[in-house]
Amino acid sequence: MFDPHAAYSGELERVQQVIARLAGDGDRFAETLRQEQIAHLSYSQVTAVEFCPRRYYLQYVRQVELTPVPAYFAKGKLIHNIIAETYIRLNAAQSVDRDAYFQRIGQAFDGEQRVHLENAVALHLENLWHGCRVVGIEQPFAFAVSDAMPPIVGVIDLILEKDGQFIVIDHKTGHDFYPQDELQMAIYREYIRRAYGAVDPQFYYESYRWVNNLKRIRKPAFQRHPVNLQYTDWQVAENRLKAASRQIEAIRRAHSGSKTGICFRCPYFRQC
Ligand code: SF4
Repeated sequence: MFDPHAAYSGELERVQQVIARLAGDGDRFAETLRQEQIAHLSYSQVTAVEFCPRRYYLQYVRQVELTPVPAYFAKGKLIHNIIAETYIRLNAAQSVDRDAYFQRIGQAFDGEQRVHLENAVALHLENLWHGCRVVGIEQPFAFAVSDAMPPIVGVIDLILEKDGQFIVIDHKTGHDFYPQDELQMAIYREYIRRAYGAVDPQFYYESYRWVNNLKRIRKPAFQRHPVNLQYTDWQVAENRLKAASRQIEAIRRAHSGSKTGICFRCPYFRQC
């Protein structure tokens, strides 16, 4: 008999098997979970369904690809890859070659997009974390909240440790600095506590603003923003996760989602 309280028992183990099989490859993590139809809940899914149930349906049920792929998406992915590579190299005591990064950018982008990325790389290299142990780079993770909800999954951009203190960093890119949603960091904190027993990690959003000329800007193009989570946040986060999970189950059962989003801000507005 179907037991809703145990609907997702066993799913965490399946996700953990994927993480082990991919040897921590964060890039292929989400795609593999989708291909193997393993139930999971991510911060991105929560924000998609909260933004608009139809958007969740398009993105995660019908798996509609954005066409053309928006430039901001491809640029964000490349800068994330470059930042990850820098810390992999530093961790291996290897040098970091800015010109090699610029060459890679030039192979994929030209014009303004290329300049944006080159400026972001310059700022990244000026604002490196030094004297830290690298704990994880693009690190996939999963943990269960209850058997009635899919396991929570994600990929953490960067985990460092300095003098016993864990530091968790997420990178953002865009035309401006946008206010960040603490749910993402609340999820990361819960994972860090469970996985490492670190009781008081520090959290930062590092935001890169796309700019054309670093010498002619009125406000910074890079921001390292600490996130001060309150001790009550996990309960707030868990309630949000549960509400989103219920909404997602209803969308999957009905095979449709209501159109209640702000369409002019939606990347799916052409394909909706
Ligand atoms: S275009 Fe509008 S209705 Fe369609 S998914 Fe986006 S927000 Fe929802």
